[in-house]
Amino acid sequence: MRVDVVSIFPDYLAPLDLSLVGKARAAGLLDLRVHDLRDWTTDRHRTVDDTPFGGGAGMVMRPDVWGRALDDVLDDGAHLLLPTPSGAPLTQRTAEALATEQHLVVACGRYEGIDARVAEHFATRPGVRVSEFSIGDYVLNGGEVAALVLVEAVARLLPGVVGNPESLVEESHGAAGLLEYPVYTKPPTWADLDVPEVLLSGHHARIARWRRDQALLRTARRRPDMLAALDPAELDAHDRAT
Ligand code: SAM
Repeated sequence: MRVDVVSIFPDYLAPLDLSLVGKARAAGLLDLRVHDLRDWTTDRHRTVDDTPFGGGAGMVMRPDVWGRALDDVLDDGAHLLLPTPSGAPLTQRTAEALATEQHLVVACGRYEGIDARVAEHFATRPGVRVSEFSIGDYVLNGGEVAALVLVEAVARLLPGVVGNPESLVEESHGAAGLLEYPVYTKPPTWADLDVPEVLLSGHHARIARWRRDQALLRTARRRPDMLAALDPAELDAHDRAT
């Protein structure tokens, strides 16, 4: 997969050299390119913003600068992703869908955001899709953190990036539609707290049942909205009893 990120702060994306995403890049599983939007400016001051039409506080990013940048970076079949607090919430389903694509381009806004004509213009370009996404109901200073979130959520789903693909199966927000059960490691007693006995039993069926029950309980307590969205047909008899 190829991912291009365009930002006025390319250094903000440096953490994408670390950990699993960094390894994926080194292994050639992810071709990640970070660009400085100011490379597409034409004036001496490398200006990317201007005052908003209609008045009001703050500055707006200019469509002509973004237009030149995206003309160069977007190719046929690319998906242009615009982080914005007014976008569709980024979910695990979105990440799964994006992980099947060939080329993502993330355009990081700053100030009051990017002139709205940029999304409108590129949505009419044949072969290019445009999506506006939000990483939560709060406002950040720029799209770079949202780009980091998106790239990490998508890259870890690419084949070969996570060492043991089994660890992607039972995760929170996975196919079961539940939060993950609590996890424990050694030592078996710590700070007067014991690991649940069943996990030390070696009894695989009991462990699987306990984990499923814990996932259901945790989801019911913390995210009743997720539990309510489950298809009752997918619950088994034991689930109904708990
Ligand atoms: N004036 C905009 C509004 O109220 O919707 C907020 C602009 S924000 C200060 C600057 C940039 O940060 C946005 O263009 C976007 O790229 C990014 N951003 C801020 N919050 C975000 C969020 N929750 N999700 C995704 N991107 C966000």
